[in-house]
Amino acid sequence: MRGFNNSPLDGLMSETYTKPLPQADEESREFYEGTRRHELMLMRCLSCLAWRLPSRPRCPDCLSTESEWAKASGRGTLYSFGIMHQKFPGFADDVPYNYAVVELEEGPRIVSNIVAVANEDLKVDMPLVAYYDDVADDTTLIRFQPAQS
Ligand SMILES: [Zn+2]
Repeated sequence: MRGFNNSPLDGLMSETYTKPLPQADEESREFYEGTRRHELMLMRCLSCLAWRLPSRPRCPDCLSTESEWAKASGRGTLYSFGIMHQKFPGFADDVPYNYAVVELEEGPRIVSNIVAVANEDLKVDMPLVAYYDDVADDTTLIRFQPAQS
């Protein structure tokens, strides 16, 4: 079974993905359609141009409800992380794996996993880029990997 911390090439669908998958709803559909295209789509306020994660009806900065979907850079830095040792159903073969908060270049912070790097080499503030993990025919999960410097 594939793990979070192996090479990005493991994202190729060589095995059936058996973990729970996110279910897009009307408010998050653009985000998940974006990941399928290997694009990170965020909401952007049309009033003050602040970026935010989907799906929040109001801008957290100015409370405007006017927003658009816009493509983010996919770049960010590692804000915080933890190492999971608990063997939840479906994830037992992956422990220990990391779960991370990535601060995107645009400002919002997103929860994800860091791939293509050993857990012991994770460092807060390390530069990261999005990695699009095609885990099923209709589902791509966004993870992050170290940026090439
Ligand atoms: Zn705003």
